Amino acid sequence: MGVGATEAPPDAPHSLPAAEVARDLATDPEAGLVTPIAEDRLAAAGPNLLPDRDGLRRWPILLGQLRSPILLLLAAAGALSAGLGDLLEACVIGAVVVLNVWIGYRQELVAERAMEALHALDVPTATAVRDGKAGPVEAATVVPGDVLLLQAGAHVPADGRIAEAHALRIDESALTGESVPSDKQSEPVPRDVVLAERGSMAYSGTVVSGGRGRLVVTATGRHTELGRVAGLLGATTPGRTPLQLRLDALVRQLGLVAAALVLVVLVLGLVRGEDLDVLLLTAVSLAVAAVPESLPAVVTITLALGAQRMAKRSALIRRLSAVETLGSVTTVCSDKTGTLTQNRMTVVVLDLAGANLDLRSTTATTGALERHPSLRALLTAGVLCNDTVVAQDGTLLGDPTETALVAVAQRCGLQPDQLRAAHPRVSELPFDAARGRMTTVHRDPLQPDGADGRVAYCKGSVDGVLPRCSAVRVAGHAVPLDAEVRQRARAAADTLAADGLRVLAVATRTWSTAAREPDDEHLEEALTLLGLVAMIDPARPQARVAIAACREAGIAAVMITGDHPLTAAAIGRDLALIDDTDEVVTGAQLAELDDEQLVDVVRTTRIYARVLPADKLRIVAALQQQGEVVAMTGDGVNDAPALRQADVGVAMGITGTDVTKDAADIVLRDDDFATIVGAVHEGRVVFENIRKFIRNILSGNVAEVAVMIVAPLLGMPIPLLPLQILWLNLVTDGLPAMALAVEPAEPGVLKQPPTPLTASLFGDDGGRAILRRGAALSVLVLLPTFVLWKTGDAAWQTVLFTSIAAAELAGGFAMRSERASLRAIGLLSNRPMVLAVAATLGLQVLLVTVPVLRDTLGLEPLAASHWVLVAAIAVAYLAVVELDKAWHGRR
Ligand code: ADP
Ligand code: MG
Repeated sequence: MGVGATEAPPDAPHSLPAAEVARDLATDPEAGLVTPIAEDRLAAAGPNLLPDRDGLRRWPILLGQLRSPILLLLAAAGALSAGLGDLLEACVIGAVVVLNVWIGYRQELVAERAMEALHALDVPTATAVRDGKAGPVEAATVVPGDVLLLQAGAHVPADGRIAEAHALRIDESALTGESVPSDKQSEPVPRDVVLAERGSMAYSGTVVSGGRGRLVVTATGRHTELGRVAGLLGATTPGRTPLQLRLDALVRQLGLVAAALVLVVLVLGLVRGEDLDVLLLTAVSLAVAAVPESLPAVVTITLALGAQRMAKRSALIRRLSAVETLGSVTTVCSDKTGTLTQNRMTVVVLDLAGANLDLRSTTATTGALERHPSLRALLTAGVLCNDTVVAQDGTLLGDPTETALVAVAQRCGLQPDQLRAAHPRVSELPFDAARGRMTTVHRDPLQPDGADGRVAYCKGSVDGVLPRCSAVRVAGHAVPLDAEVRQRARAAADTLAADGLRVLAVATRTWSTAAREPDDEHLEEALTLLGLVAMIDPARPQARVAIAACREAGIAAVMITGDHPLTAAAIGRDLALIDDTDEVVTGAQLAELDDEQLVDVVRTTRIYARVLPADKLRIVAALQQQGEVVAMTGDGVNDAPALRQADVGVAMGITGTDVTKDAADIVLRDDDFATIVGAVHEGRVVFENIRKFIRNILSGNVAEVAVMIVAPLLGMPIPLLPLQILWLNLVTDGLPAMALAVEPAEPGVLKQPPTPLTASLFGDDGGRAILRRGAALSVLVLLPTFVLWKTGDAAWQTVLFTSIAAAELAGGFAMRSERASLRAIGLLSNRPMVLAVAATLGLQVLLVTVPVLRDTLGLEPLAASHWVLVAAIAVAYLAVVELDKAWHGRR
């Protein structure tokens, strides 16, 4: 034993040769650690995680609660009660204040935790070499001595010494504040340079912005540079979503309305010479009545529940605000490959300048290598210019475009492992969506002049590769690529693309190291075209359904792809995204347009092809200028700016890079277009449900305020005491609202046009329904209680209080839908609603029957006849709301 223990990490590894660092850590930069040792080290060093900052986050949330205007209002009410000598009431209000803060705090913590749980579903991984094979491992299991492969778009999961770098650039802004990515290489740097200048190191928490590299891990978890400062990085307060901000504003406005009412009542009262004590009590009650105390907490919970429902449909919400924005989306811009198609690439045609191999026939590959002299070179190029990892069990791991090339070579009888061993890669220009091609350089021993030989292979889009070719291999021999042959190659590619196939051109060039070697800039020149490879990537059947659903829902679906326009158009027709008359706009055409012209073009265009990632950003911005609310998908590093610009940035969970996910508002676990539409559906339901309980709660508030103002005018004493109103607003409002939050989707949510982000929170009629219903309720409760009071019944106040509570519960039922009657949706179809109402009614009965509670709230016992009256008022209110819905809903 002993080997498994973590070897002491070398001091200042940046200044040592990579090989020495690896030796000190008892690891092999090529083959990595063996799994048992990695496991031992994990046990010894602990998981590669930063210390939990949970404790740090609690305080900002708690302090956030104290800033709520509701709290101020309640505190003022408590102080007034105490001033008026009612100590019991002051104490109870004080308790309510504390309870209110605590509930708000818990709700936000729960929401925050729920978001975190969603984040945790997307486990960060790293590519580690262990036992000589590269494969994904959980980032938390990385140990010192591990050898990691770094690629563009990935997080660096631990600190390490760079053992190999190809055009490797790392964005270290999170650690050093330096916004320009640093170039990295494997040579040691002087011992005393600062962190930002250690070009031989990569640090945890930074991001690979380009190229490829190999890293020997020197430190993990708390021992990383990030771990050392993690305690210092303050926790950020969770941002309020736009909806929450609008609600905060609403609550503030209602607070002002309350203040104004209080002033009016006070002044009028004083003028009429009323008792100051009574006036002050009325004023406090009015203020408490006007403000919907339970609303902020219920909205937070509703958003969090919505996020959870979306997660069940494979859309992981990263920012709570996305839940509400999704419901208002008017345009969904989506990648083609993997989102609208299955990303299951299969090579179906190999075109070898004149000879054409259709692999859809089962016998095509038998003896093909012998029949076609150029085939071996084409397949070899496809295997070598390729980052696919062949796992131990033979499965192919990597970009589907590349695994398809390995698979077709295997099918024709080539051995990828042998080819790679015979032609080790010496350098490369990695694939980059903007260039549309990649090139690798390999050792090639078979040079005629006896010197060390080199062979370069280049593959990419036809537009990316063909212009760089000066020759073409025909039947095993290179011939010059004149204009006519070039035209023929292009026509062959177009024919394949028009069938919806993805076409790659493959080319090569050789030289001897004795001659002058081409540098990177001139590497992809004077190439010899080896042939074309066409692969099929079938459309996702669900995507077709989802696109039809978008159309019904008034949402424009747009495809944006780096692929060929003909391929894009063929897939677009297959998906019924466009018809034959619609035009495809290419990146080249976009480049010709200024931003103003672009705004016109985006109005009607449904497919963009051959676009660069930078074009995506322009398209989003132009759509937004048209007033569209845009969701945009992306997977590559270069997509991040467009995702940030979009109203809802959508990252691919499977093919997406870490950088894209960081920039996104939601992550699709299944990369499926249909999942976006599912999330939009949930977003709409959330917004509708929030509106439903806002309507119910505010109707209640309107009724309470009206009662408070009208009763004295009728000569009655103060009808509702502050504590009673608090009970109404917190309990009989809050519980049914929570149940409305889980109200199932109404049929046809996706058959209506999107609701604008700025739509009224009160509903389509801008709150008139709330005023109508609130006024109706106040009449319904005031008339009978006025009669009771006139006839000297001491329980009149208790009846009034209880019937408002019961009516709000009944209203909660009715307001489950504005479009359908309660009969149509079914009285018992929302179980939580039935439970919430039963529980609230139970509490209400306890309040009126248990003497201690009754006295605390200043209530009187009720007779059976009173209860019948209460029930009648509640049913009457239910009927009024139903009639109101039927009357005004018929638009
Ligand atoms: P898409 O919208 O289909 O994802 P990309 O931007 O990924 O398009 O790719 C653009 C073009 O680059 C593709 O049409 C293809 O011709 C080429 N391409 C894609 N992947 C690779 C790769 N791994 N190597 C070389 N070329 C590629
Ligand atoms: Mg792609």
